[in-house]
Amino acid sequence: MGRIHSARVLVAGAGALGNEAVKDLVLAGFRDISVADFDTVEESNLCRCVLFRERDIGRNKAEVVAESAGELDPQCRVTALPERIQSLDLSGYDMIIGCLDSISARLHLNSHAVFNRTPYVDGATDGFRGKVQVILPGRPCLECSMNRTHIRELHRTFSCIPGRDAPPLILSSGITTTAVIAGICVREAIKIVCGMESMCVNGINYYDGNLGSLDITELEINPRCPNHGELA
Ligand SMILES: [Zn+2]
Repeated sequence: MGRIHSARVLVAGAGALGNEAVKDLVLAGFRDISVADFDTVEESNLCRCVLFRERDIGRNKAEVVAESAGELDPQCRVTALPERIQSLDLSGYDMIIGCLDSISARLHLNSHAVFNRTPYVDGATDGFRGKVQVILPGRPCLECSMNRTHIRELHRTFSCIPGRDAPPLILSSGITTTAVIAGICVREAIKIVCGMESMCVNGINYYDGNLGSLDITELEINPRCPNHGELA
């Protein structure tokens, strides 16, 4: 457990996926977690965020997650960073887990991860569907598989929380997808800090709750990727 106890992990985003990921990290034995989010808790967040309570409405999400997660394990230090992702100092972390619904923030972390060789686990959910990609040194990144159309599509489709006018089935399925995707993210995080990067998912791990399927789409480094162009 030593490597897990001492690993410095940043969780970017304290929405539904960030709540689940931090909860899983604490219960898995991580003891040095930072969580970043600029946003505040709304009433609509309560039904799908395990660490939020009604009394937290109006408070910063990162501060609430840090406080609640600390109660799960008093030996775990959870630091709140109530800042925009683009404003964060990303140095000094052993790994970053992205739990964001903003494609621009995710691409910001992705570029940082490739440039600084920091492992980055990117999770995203949308109703019954979700996906996880692990970005490691020498491996494809988020932009390796994207063209401009993909980026527009991602921006449109993937969000931690289904839209307000989504049908009840989609709304209710949201938390089950979130739990699966957060679990996969933390499982990959455990492999990384334990020196088992070679066992990490190579490509994009897609989860489809409609079909009950979990598939991997393998990727290669794209020589036209803005992050990898000079390396490929
Ligand atoms: Zn790339």
